[in-house]
Amino acid sequence: MAMHSRVTQLIQDNDGRILGFKMLQVAPGSVAEKQFVRYYRWFSKIRMYVQPLANRLRAKLDEIEQEHTVTRLVRVKNGVILSAGGFIFNRQMVRHYAPKYYPGAPLGSPGCNGNGIRLGETAGGVTGNMARGSSWRFINPPKSWVEGLMVNQDGKRFVNEASYGARIGEAMAEHNHGKGILVFSHAMLKDVLFQLMPGKVWLLLQTAPAVLSLLFNTKKAATIDALAQRSHLPVEALRESVARYNILAAKKEDDDFHKAAEYLRPLEQGPFYAMDVSVGNKLFICPTITLGGLVVDELTGLVKREDGSTIPNLYAAGRTAIGVASHSYVSGLSLADCVFSGRRAGAHISTINQ
Ligand SMILES: Cc1cc2nc3c(=O)[nH]c(=O)nc-3n(C[C@H](O)[C@H](O)[C@H](O)COP(=O)(O)OP(=O)(O)OC[C@H]3O[C@@H](n4cnc5c(N)ncnc54)[C@H](O)[C@@H]3O)c2cc1C
Repeated sequence: MAMHSRVTQLIQDNDGRILGFKMLQVAPGSVAEKQFVRYYRWFSKIRMYVQPLANRLRAKLDEIEQEHTVTRLVRVKNGVILSAGGFIFNRQMVRHYAPKYYPGAPLGSPGCNGNGIRLGETAGGVTGNMARGSSWRFINPPKSWVEGLMVNQDGKRFVNEASYGARIGEAMAEHNHGKGILVFSHAMLKDVLFQLMPGKVWLLLQTAPAVLSLLFNTKKAATIDALAQRSHLPVEALRESVARYNILAAKKEDDDFHKAAEYLRPLEQGPFYAMDVSVGNKLFICPTITLGGLVVDELTGLVKREDGSTIPNLYAAGRTAIGVASHSYVSGLSLADCVFSGRRAGAHISTINQ
């Protein structure tokens, strides 16, 4: 098994069949390899929490790859399955193909830089759903944040606040310019603080980002009008949204977004708070993955060309390919699709005669 190796080129015959590939390998057993493994472990641990440090570690990994690799040429027996992740760390690609998800915090393995997709394209493959991504805006726990209302930059409510985090992220990224502001009352804040007490939720994953966000990412005002002004929201629109929400909450029936009755609570007494939960917020990060990839034949996983034909022995799986998760993501769907698409390609490749 060749660990810490990057495939950089596919070699084809005139029919497009893959004959072999070129790869760069961090020399096995070398000091550089040990260093690579160490940096990789740290990167995996902190990538979601300390972005600047994660970026530096990723750059270090790239540096080691560039300076301490040996080139290997590998002959292919049956075929090749491209399974090299998505492209969230290739910022130019994200900006170009999936600009709505560009502001989100990149989430993935260091290899999620689009090179698997690009390899497939160099062999004649086409891509699809490249504009699709998934941004994860979880506001629960603490549970009482869900009782507030979320508005867009026009001060209008746009989502059921109790929805699953990727659904809220999608509503922001796809339809509301990536913007979301969560409005809540002092009574809700008191409950939020209680819900964040030690032992009630995960310290690093849930308490820390919530407290940081309350301290540095939240505006406070005595009235809704003043809050709108402080948050640069249209005063009248926010006033109307809150009034409408209070009516729905009072009758415990959300005719607009169908939030469950247990999460409907009027915003009555000030002070009131507005917390920025936008996709691009750097303090309250919104982890984001890409969902588009190479178009594959649904029965075999073979990579498709522009004309609909398939490349003889080139497959794609996971986030390098279009799959079950590629239009819309819910937890587990990407991993499940990776397993499914990997098995599909594996089953077919084993039928190819050498
Ligand atoms: C913290 C976190 C939590 C997540 N939670 C969930 C969840 O709850 N549910 C869910 O469904 N999904 C979740 N995901 C997303 C999911 O893990 C990914 O979508 C999935 O792992 C993608 O799998 P993959 O095999 O396509 O790519 P990856 O897992 O990224 O694997 C690709 C591999 O290919 C390697 N590679 C890249 N380029 C090359 C090359 N040129 N040559 C050789 N090797 C290369 C990479 O280094 C990497 O090891 C989460 C992801 C993260 C990071």
